[in-house]
Order: sequence, then C-alpha cells, then structure tokens
Amino acid sequence: PAALAELRATGRPSISFEFGPPRDDAAEAVFWQTIRVLEPLAPTFVSVTYGAGGSTRDRTVRITQQLAQTTTLTPVGHLTCVGASRSELRRVIGEYADAGVRNIMALRGDPKEGPRAPWTPHPDGLNYAVELVRLARELGSFGVGVAAFPDVHPASTDLDADARVLALKAEAGAQFAVTQFFFTPDDYFRLVDRVAALGCDIPILPGIMPVTSVKSIQRMAELSGADMPAQLIERLHAVADDPAAVRAVGVDVATELGSALLEGGAPGLHFYTMNRSTATLEVYERLGLAARV
Ligand code: FAD
Repeated sequence: PAALAELRATGRPSISFEFGPPRDDAAEAVFWQTIRVLEPLAPTFVSVTYGAGGSTRDRTVRITQQLAQTTTLTPVGHLTCVGASRSELRRVIGEYADAGVRNIMALRGDPKEGPRAPWTPHPDGLNYAVELVRLARELGSFGVGVAAFPDVHPASTDLDADARVLALKAEAGAQFAVTQFFFTPDDYFRLVDRVAALGCDIPILPGIMPVTSVKSIQRMAELSGADMPAQLIERLHAVADDPAAVRAVGVDVATELGSALLEGGAPGLHFYTMNRSTATLEVYERLGLAARV
C-alpha cells in the first residue's frame, strides 16, 4: 500500500490487521462489528485470507471488495495459486481491481493435505508465489505483498532458502512482506538479516497473534510450523483451566513480543486478529501505538 512507503519514510510503525473469511452469515456479522471497532485505528491496510474452496473464496473476494467500497480502510486482496488456472487467477485479480482494491497479497497456498504435503500445481496454473507476483504486476499497477517465514517454511530446507525465495519475490516486484506468526523476536531479526545480506531491503512486517485459547493456538502452530517456546507453553498451561487467564497471558506475550520487535527496528506490526477486536485492541493500547502511529 502507498501508505506503507510514506510511513517508512517517516519511521512511524505500520499497523495492519488480518482476518479470516467468515464461515457463515452470523460469523460475517461479527466480522463487520470487528471492522467497525478497528477502523478508527486507521491501519495501513487490512486483509482477509483466501480459502481452499469456491464459496469461501467468493466470500473473501466479496468482503474485500466491500472493504474497499464501504469503509475508509485499504484492503489487500489475498490470492493463492491452489487449484487455479492462470485465467482464473487473472479473473480474480480483475474482480479485485474493478472494486478498487489496489493491493494484492500473492501467495502460493498449501495443498489441502497441509503445508508439508507434496505440492502439485494446476496444469495451467502457477507453481510458486513469485509467478503470481509477476502476474499481478503485469496486470496492473498493484501494490504486491508476499509471505515470509521466521520459523522456516514447513516445506523448506532452511532459513537461507527462505531468505532467497523472499529476495526473488522482491526482485519480481513484491513491495512488502508479512510474516507467519511466531513467538521469538530473534527468529524475525535473523530472517531480516539474511534477507538484507542478499542485498534486498523489502519491508518485512512481523505477524503477531495474541493467543486466546491454548487448543487453537497449538493447532495453528503445528500447521504453520511456528515454534512455541517451552516457556510460553508453560505460562499457558499453568492457567489452562481459566480461559480469562489464558487470554491475559496471550495479551501479555503479544505485548512483550510487539515491544521487542518495534524496539529492534521492525517497520510495524501485523495483527492476526482471529476476527475479534478485543485482544488486538488491548495489545495496541498497551504498546502505546496510538501515540506512535
Ligand atoms: P512460495 O513463496 O511459493 O513458497 C512455497 C514453498 O516453495 C516454500 O517452501 C519455498 O521455499 C519454496 N519455493 C518458492 N519459490 C521457489 C523456487 N523458485 N525454487 C524452489 N523452491 C521455491 N494461505 C492461503 O491458503 N490463503 C491465504 O490467504 C494465506 N495468507 C497468508 C498470509 C501470510 C502473511 C502468510 C505468511 C501465509 C499465508 N498463507 C495463506 C499460507 C501460505 O500460502 C503457505 O504458507 C504456503 O505454504 C506458502 O506460500 P508462499 O506464498 O510463501 O509460497
């Protein structure tokens, strides 16, 4: 997003919020309530992830279009290469553009068996996110974002390979990267250093997720390959029977992480909101972000 370059020039942190596609109309009502609560924070951008199937994809595209048309927010339209021909990918990019969505998050996506399963592209599709970055750049003057992985991508050999892939995506025209969620600041700075060592200065926004339930976070960490430090697991398990206390620990942990990242020079914070506003708002306030942005 254009605002990201402006913020970068001023050194003020970027704030952004990610959501998942609501499952049904009731969940969509909760989503819009969350949007109305977070909208006054004037984030740099917001985004809704792109699922595996037809109806959830349609919902993502429609909601992202509505964000562009009915709110003051800047939406980034997520798109993956999973099960899609080039012409389908062109069509979705066109649908985003027609509604005034000027930024695309170009992702490969995962096989439906999970991120470690062998990847098979659509016969007339794209193999890697870098090709989708090129396609989006060819089709219009989009701002293009890509994924990055502080804890090493689940199917990647090592961090150096991940850093090279990110540098390739930047060379292909990606202007910003957002990381998978993670819990250890050093993991993020290690990735930033490796990418910089390749001569690439793409801004890498660290993704943070305030933990609100022990079970869901463990499942998500397993899927994404995020390392949960033993100390964090202990802190959560010590209060596992008390949902309010788990949430409080989650907010503490995300605040400590966000603070360390900003102190260390991260260009901003990207919040995985789980479509709720309260935990994100608490972390935002505890970090004094209203005064910083
Ligand atoms: P790629 O950059 O293509 O990388 C995929 C794998 O291929 C990696 O192991 C990489 O090391 C390897 N690779 C890449 N290029 C090359 C190359 N040239 N040569 C050899 N190996 C290569 N998933 C969804 O389904 N929907 C979403 O909306 C969504 N949003 C996301 C948002 C963020 C911020 C993040 C971090 C992830 C998101 N994901 C989403 C998950 C993502 O699609 C998966 O993590 C996927 O496994 C990797 O996507 P990628 O875009 O990084 O793929």
